[in-house]
Amino acid sequence: MSAKIPVAVLGATGSVGQRFLALLADHPWFEVRVLTASQRSSGKPYAEAVRWLQTTALPEAYRELVLQPTEPASVAGCPLVFSALGSSVAGPLEPALAAAGHLVVSNAGAHRMDPDVPLVVPEVNPDHIDLARHQDAFRNRGGALLTNPNCSTIGLVLALKPLADAFGIDRLHVTTLQAVSGAGLPGVPGVQTLDNIIPFIPNEEEKVEAETRKILGRLDGSAIIPAEVRVSAHCNRVPVIDGHTACVSVALERQASEDDLRRAWSDFRAAPQELSLPTAPARPVHWLDGLDVPQPRLHRDLDGGMAASVGRLRPCPLLDYKFVTLSHNTLRGAAGGALLLAELAVERGLHAEARRA
Ligand code: NAP
Repeated sequence: MSAKIPVAVLGATGSVGQRFLALLADHPWFEVRVLTASQRSSGKPYAEAVRWLQTTALPEAYRELVLQPTEPASVAGCPLVFSALGSSVAGPLEPALAAAGHLVVSNAGAHRMDPDVPLVVPEVNPDHIDLARHQDAFRNRGGALLTNPNCSTIGLVLALKPLADAFGIDRLHVTTLQAVSGAGLPGVPGVQTLDNIIPFIPNEEEKVEAETRKILGRLDGSAIIPAEVRVSAHCNRVPVIDGHTACVSVALERQASEDDLRRAWSDFRAAPQELSLPTAPARPVHWLDGLDVPQPRLHRDLDGGMAASVGRLRPCPLLDYKFVTLSHNTLRGAAGGALLLAELAVERGLHAEARRA
């Protein structure tokens, strides 16, 4: 790519926004030009407004960048816009930006289930991205809205995809153990999370169930036909900083041995790896041998935090097999996943259209 594509990050001071900035600091294709936040922060230099919580230093390039209000005028010069906004703000704003000709890649839940909005994990359903070409925004101005799934759904479908391709999936039961960083900033108060498990995350179970079916579904012209797989989810908040764990029981459509499943995970490669996209992990799924793995502290950063790890495969007395999977919720489950999605969109030519912005 000759010149870098100017990008904006909306909600740049939040948990996901900070991850975006850390990942974008040395990106070979994208250059951050605009950062936005709420009225509380806009007008201030980024370093003054943000409470930087990353383990790497705040990149110099952002320190003096003045935060802009989160509104269409602020991002006028940026064909590509990353949104790390909450749903109430993203709801009306993101379609307006797409209608104005921007390619918007969102982490918010507001539009994930809209019939013409692609909900994409690049290794799982890269072809769904073409749904964006049916959006009015795309036809009229070359803009589009693409969405990154819920953070626990992303890790789950990465682990399911190799099984779905090789053996088919009939139904599954999943119990998540979700990190506190998934609740954003300032997040869940420590007094509620330490020495505790909270067996409720608003709307999360519904999202995991519906999004899994949409992602594993198929693109049929201008519509996604959801997969017929039945999904039951329990979602829990646990005292872990980063990394969502999921305990999964699955019924397959065709018989397979434990070795078959392990091989399907270990051999799995997909479009991002074939295209050598800059943010693609070398291996999207890491099978881990051992009785007590994966664990958040040990395995969430595998392949730059972009891989799902899978372990503890054994027979399930109710369904066919059970296993544990883990993925990093603010990297693979949010900013890193969105970045990889944007790279795939550029590769597929959507950005060339968004240049009209
Ligand atoms: P967060 O930490 O609460 O950050 C929210 C950001 O939005 C901040 O930059 C904040 O700016 C800004 N903001 C708040 N109110 C605003 C307003 N009225 N107008 C404009 N900007 C406003 O949230 P987060 O955890 O980063 O999550 C961001 C999005 O990603 C959410 O939709 C969330 O569901 C989704 N997501 C999060 C995760 C995760 O693991 N955390 C994973 C996947 C998806 P100020 O600093 O000025 O308040």
